[in-house]
Amino acid sequence: MDVMAPDPHATWDHTAEAARAWMTAHQVDLEPFRHEYPEALDDEYERFRPLQRMLWDDGWNRLGWPVEVGGLGGSPVHRYVVAEELSHAGYVYPHILGAVEIIAPMLNRFAPHLAVDHVPAGVRGDEVWSQGFSEPDAGSDLASLRTKAVPDGDGFRLTGQKMWSSNAHIASWSCLLARTGDADSGYRGLTMFWVDLKAEGVRVVPTLLGNDRCDTSEIFLDEVYVPASHVIGEVGKGWAVVMYLMQFERGAYAWCRQADMHSLLTELVQDHADEFGPGADGVLGDAYLAVLALRAQARDTIGELALGNDLGPAISIDKVLMSAAEQTMTEAARRLLYPRLELAGPADEYAELWRRRWAYSRITTIYGGAIEVQRDLVAERLLGLPRAR
Ligand SMILES: Cc1cc2nc3c(=O)[nH]c(=O)nc-3n(C[C@H](O)[C@H](O)[C@H](O)COP(=O)(O)OP(=O)(O)OC[C@H]3O[C@@H](n4cnc5c(N)ncnc54)[C@H](O)[C@@H]3O)c2cc1C
Repeated sequence: MDVMAPDPHATWDHTAEAARAWMTAHQVDLEPFRHEYPEALDDEYERFRPLQRMLWDDGWNRLGWPVEVGGLGGSPVHRYVVAEELSHAGYVYPHILGAVEIIAPMLNRFAPHLAVDHVPAGVRGDEVWSQGFSEPDAGSDLASLRTKAVPDGDGFRLTGQKMWSSNAHIASWSCLLARTGDADSGYRGLTMFWVDLKAEGVRVVPTLLGNDRCDTSEIFLDEVYVPASHVIGEVGKGWAVVMYLMQFERGAYAWCRQADMHSLLTELVQDHADEFGPGADGVLGDAYLAVLALRAQARDTIGELALGNDLGPAISIDKVLMSAAEQTMTEAARRLLYPRLELAGPADEYAELWRRRWAYSRITTIYGGAIEVQRDLVAERLLGLPRAR
């Protein structure tokens, strides 16, 4: 047996060991993927695409995806183990694969006919996808969204506006939630569509965020034709589809983030400890603790998701811990490198990177569901505390 080949029947430990052996054997090829730079999303995607392709060609990111969509089968936990090994070895786990971890399970379950072509393309890095749920007047209260989908021949015409759509300006497809029911049909009148962002009537306008990057976009839809074959799940059942997806946004994605955060902290200590002032141990301790708490929770979650279990409101715990870890970690870097993040100019790339990470971490209490709402879900639905409203 090839010790460096991905094996869907191996133990987790064997997979980790095999992935490490593969990385050692491919050190030279992997070297360009060791560092992040303060660059635009488009450039970052293009730079890490070859890594996605390399992982695909040698099978590592195909572990745990069904054979029907080009995967090797087995449990997704194998793939999560590989993601963590890559991060721990100091390589950048391609950001775009995080979006694949969120969207592909939904395509596999609710639209296998679309998954056959799109999942391999997404995993390989040939396609980027986005999520089009939030609107100017519908975020936490998603069920009030107003983008309309009106039947037209063999399909639908979509009209409305989406915002905060991550990766949309570099994406070719969006899973987009629209109203097929009456205006007051609430969550019962929603349908999920797979929308071609290059189709006639679609306009994507990038939004500049506080981290100096356009990570999200607005999507304007003007009578965009979407064939009925691009309905994900059933007409009027979009709420169940988006709730299914949210488990992966708050769970599987959290796992990828904790691995990345752990690796960033380790790099900070290894390469910059001589800059740290007094009290560094406590600051670092808090940061590692926040990341490890997320790891412990996300480890259980990815196991449950791999078994196909529905996590319900418990998934909000992962989201709360993920936001806490992101903010504690970046605040630790700010304090440990003080005053570099505040004062260094853009030529100091390391400070610039952490400055961007710090700014983006402020947003982690909003995307994937506002933290106050997640805390309410934990309080009311898990702990049974009285409703505040
Ligand atoms: C960087 C980033 C990336 C994103 N990516 C995507 C994406 O890819 N696709 C997508 O569809 N959306 C995306 N979003 C949107 C995100 O999901 C929404 O911003 C989020 O759900 C909050 O909605 P809102 O902005 O409308 O704020 P609101 O819902 O208006 O909330 C404003 C404030 O009111 C509080 N609040 C609202 N309702 C309650 C309540 N019931 N109880 C207690 N407090 C409440 C909130 O906690 C928040 O502090 C992204 C957002 C950001 C910032």
